[in-house]
Amino acid sequence: MNQNTNHIEHHKHISETTIITESSNKKLVLVGNPNVGKSVIFNYLSGIYVDVSNFPGTTIEITKGKYLNYDVYDTPGIYGVSSFNDEERVARDIIIDADIILNIVDSVHLERDLFLTQQLIDMGKKLVVVLNFMDEVKKHHIKIDIDKLSELLGVPVVPTSAIKREGFDKLTQTIESACYGKQDPHLHSQLHSMLRLVGSQAEALLILEGDEYISKKHGINPINMREEIYIERRNRVNNIINQVLTEASIRKKISTTIGRWTLNPFTGIPILLLILYFAYLFLGKLVAQDLVGFTETYFGHELWENWICKIVNQVISQETIIGQILVGEFGILTMTVTYLVFLLLPLVFAFYILLSLLEDTGYLPRLATMVDRSMTYLGLNGRAIIPLILGFGCVSAATITTRLLSNEREKTIATAILQFVIPCSAQLAVITALLMSAGFKALLIYVIVIFSVLVVIGTVLNKFLKGEASPLLINLPPLRLPQVNNVLQKTMIKTFAFMKEATPWFFLGAAIIGTMQATGLLDLWQKALAPLTQHWLKLPVETATAFVMGLVRRDFGAAGLYDIAMNPMQTTVALITITLFVPCITSILIMYKERGWKTATVIWIGTWIGSFTIGGLVAQIIV
Ligand code: GDP
Repeated sequence: MNQNTNHIEHHKHISETTIITESSNKKLVLVGNPNVGKSVIFNYLSGIYVDVSNFPGTTIEITKGKYLNYDVYDTPGIYGVSSFNDEERVARDIIIDADIILNIVDSVHLERDLFLTQQLIDMGKKLVVVLNFMDEVKKHHIKIDIDKLSELLGVPVVPTSAIKREGFDKLTQTIESACYGKQDPHLHSQLHSMLRLVGSQAEALLILEGDEYISKKHGINPINMREEIYIERRNRVNNIINQVLTEASIRKKISTTIGRWTLNPFTGIPILLLILYFAYLFLGKLVAQDLVGFTETYFGHELWENWICKIVNQVISQETIIGQILVGEFGILTMTVTYLVFLLLPLVFAFYILLSLLEDTGYLPRLATMVDRSMTYLGLNGRAIIPLILGFGCVSAATITTRLLSNEREKTIATAILQFVIPCSAQLAVITALLMSAGFKALLIYVIVIFSVLVVIGTVLNKFLKGEASPLLINLPPLRLPQVNNVLQKTMIKTFAFMKEATPWFFLGAAIIGTMQATGLLDLWQKALAPLTQHWLKLPVETATAFVMGLVRRDFGAAGLYDIAMNPMQTTVALITITLFVPCITSILIMYKERGWKTATVIWIGTWIGSFTIGGLVAQIIV
């Protein structure tokens, strides 16, 4: 918040008393998103005599001045009226108390800012909209139909360019004509019944939006209609945008319509499935099977491995331990390089292209909004869909992004789900390829088991961890076509970061397994695990190797299953076990760093027990 910096040059009376004092003057309150020019307008209106004081009980400074016969209040920049942090709480109280609201809007970001405008109108406040940043609008050749905007909102609209003081001469006249705007007709009946209970429309609306503070104040249970109200509000704003941006062409209309479809579960779920299907065609089929099939076999096995084997053989025999480690079955120069460069690199690159596309089109936040309700059952809010989807790229990176969740409880649930059930892109590719050859029944069993485990983990943790899912607060950006340059640049950066992080572990893993093989330890391990793998999981004895490899990297483990002869049901069991099995070393390390040793150890041991128990149970039934 920089709103107070502009006041420094002014003469200030610092008062310690409550700022909202009783006076006969009407309260004119400036409200807007952050950085929309509130301070500049406040300074113009209030002149040099202002009071700055802390809002009672907070460290937030509130500035109050006089304009004609109004008391003018500035408020902290907010995206919506609610009670989640101090700024919002302060703004909320001043807004509830206001007689007239001067809603300052950044005209360049109408889609974003009108969301708050619409909420203020729904709160039943007398309003004037100040369309600030008109100079920028002209510069960007945007055309806004101001009369239409005023008609659709039902309140006066005054265009200004605060830094040039343009339009300020009309402010007084417009403030005098402030009026109630056009409210959400869907809310009419609920809002009125609540209004009868609480006596203030502003508070009634906040209660319908699930505001706990206001509900408590009136001794009412908060009614959680937030999602519906927000979606409807977003739709209304989109509708207005369509009509007032005169250059809004057909493209814009299409994007708004599709945007609306993505939010409604009836159309949104088919759209999600369609996107997942295309994602599968691109990632699972085109890249994982066709492209990687070619790069791995031709460039990897034929060209690279043959060439490097010849070179190494000139120096050291392949039969020696060093030779084995370098160019043997798990050779760090043969298998590892092939996996890294010719299997993992194309996969990860393709995955990040996909992710950047979804991000840049504005689809991900919409998905979060749509799935918010179902995620509540898992103790998460819709935002958690982002780390979970990222997990399909890289569980380690996704574990880091759980930071965007709002509390430790949700972070723990999301981390547990990630570490247990979400296969990373490299592992996913191998799993897809193996399941494709194992047939539809195998695929079905795999999906059902993994999905059930996901639901069980979420539900159980949701029950046993204290607290409940936090509400979703997301700023819905408009849907737009992604920029090729931006997508490619992001993809490159992320792919590079991923490869840099993964590479050393691949070499380390290969070196460990190569050594274990050359020294006979691998045999011992296989024998030790034999009762588990052979009798309980009913798998060939060699699968134990895959579990060792899986300790190092998950995909490494799944890839190890490639060359083992198994029937389709054995493949299913092996894949279920390896998916649920301990995550790779990197993600374990990151989990310890992010969640602390207690939670991390519980999750880690849990994956061991969980994977073998569930894998075994499935084996007993289907193999
Ligand atoms: P607040 O956070 O809403 O109080 O925003 P400020 O009043 O501090 O303004 C944020 C920034 O936007 C400042 O650098 C202002 O100079 C600039 N600004 C405000 N109004 C306009 C405008 O109409 N046009 C342009 N180009 N810049 C503006």
